[in-house]
Amino acid sequence: MKCDVLIVGAGFAGAVCAERLAAAGKQVLVIDKRNHIGGNAYDCLDKNGVLIHPYGPHIFHTASKRIFEYLSNFTDWRFYEHRVLARVDGEYYPIPINRTTINKLYDLKLDEQGVTEYLESVREPRDRVATSEDVVLSSVGQDLCEKFFRGYTRKQWGLDLSELSAGVAARIPTRSNDDDRYFTDSFQFMPAQGYTAMFEKMLSHPNIEVRLEEDFQAIKSTIERQHTVYTGPIDTYFEYRYGKLPYRSLSFEHEHLGNTEQFQATGTINYPNEQEYTRITEFKHLTGQQHDGTSIVREYPQAEGEPYYPIPRPENEALFKRYNELADATTDVTFVGRLAQYRYYNMDQVVGAALKSVDELIAALKPAEELVS
Ligand code: FAD
Ligand code: UDP
Repeated sequence: MKCDVLIVGAGFAGAVCAERLAAAGKQVLVIDKRNHIGGNAYDCLDKNGVLIHPYGPHIFHTASKRIFEYLSNFTDWRFYEHRVLARVDGEYYPIPINRTTINKLYDLKLDEQGVTEYLESVREPRDRVATSEDVVLSSVGQDLCEKFFRGYTRKQWGLDLSELSAGVAARIPTRSNDDDRYFTDSFQFMPAQGYTAMFEKMLSHPNIEVRLEEDFQAIKSTIERQHTVYTGPIDTYFEYRYGKLPYRSLSFEHEHLGNTEQFQATGTINYPNEQEYTRITEFKHLTGQQHDGTSIVREYPQAEGEPYYPIPRPENEALFKRYNELADATTDVTFVGRLAQYRYYNMDQVVGAALKSVDELIAALKPAEELVS
């Protein structure tokens, strides 16, 4: 086998690099060990005909016009703003915490100013915000922390808030107004025909060949190439030379409910303290699909299994840095994506990282005569 660039992984990182390299005239071979493209953003119809996300709910949102416009080359969009309720002591409250959450929880009738003052009175300011516990306590104080954050975080990560870097809990803002959207980015849309259809279009260039159910470890020496783009776990690439990098996994329990127009009021309901799962998502909210039945997924976090989340904490970052030094010294391989860069990236951030890496790669791969002229 021969190609200019071998791309390991057909998720967002791999597909963006493949599309850009193909457009620049390179022959690209994309492999994935799974039997489908799209990585964790893959979607498909379940056996009842409902469009589901087998690897958990994926909601696209970005503040970047450039990233939105780039992806718009491959899909139409459906406007969708995600909303989440958290079930606490048998009641449902908006999360991120907002005015409604505070008023309902404490039986108050505060206006925005009142909520700001309330939060000011309960928050525990920190001189230095290093951990996720610092983030939560310094914004909402002890009671809201225990009700909404500590249990969820323990379930999701198997760690206490105090053992995780600030960035994890900082994903969830606190609001004094009534905004109950999960995200406030200017672009909040779902790909109208789904993610897989978008990936198919990205990978449809004649310079791109896709081979599924191919593991890089098994075939890496059989493919003649100039360069490799690797989007899998970075520690696996280097055969765990410095030991395993911790990743958090999940098990997904999918269920279809026949003759059920709607199962729950919002796209996702979080269960911070009750249940073994963290959340239930009902896909029809996300996709807008009309169907007599409905399909839901419960997410059960676990230590072993497919690596889904890097675990942001200082000792893991230090181990990643050692692997990253090896990556920097491996000049014929580009490492990009959530697993290869060990970053808690959303989809749009992966697209941004891949566009940056592939631009640099295309410049580096230019034949010498082109650079001169
Ligand atoms: P991946 O999608 O993981 O793709 C990597 C691919 O490489 C995989 O297909 C894998 O099979 C393949 N691979 C790995 N090793 C090898 C090998 N040795 N040989 C061959 N192939 C290999 N982001 C959002 O923006 N919004 C959301 O709502 C959202 N929800 C999420 C929910 C869950 C449960 C999870 C886990 C993630 C969520 N994300 C969300 C994040 C999003 O999934 C990622 O940012 C994005 O999909 C990462 O793309 P990637 O290409 O870096 O990695
Ligand atoms: N989180 C929480 N309670 C919630 C929602 C989130 O404690 O109701 C914390 C938890 O640590 C979680 C993190 O905030 O892992 C990030 O949440 P997000 O919904 O962004 O997680 P993802 O969708 O990436 O799994």
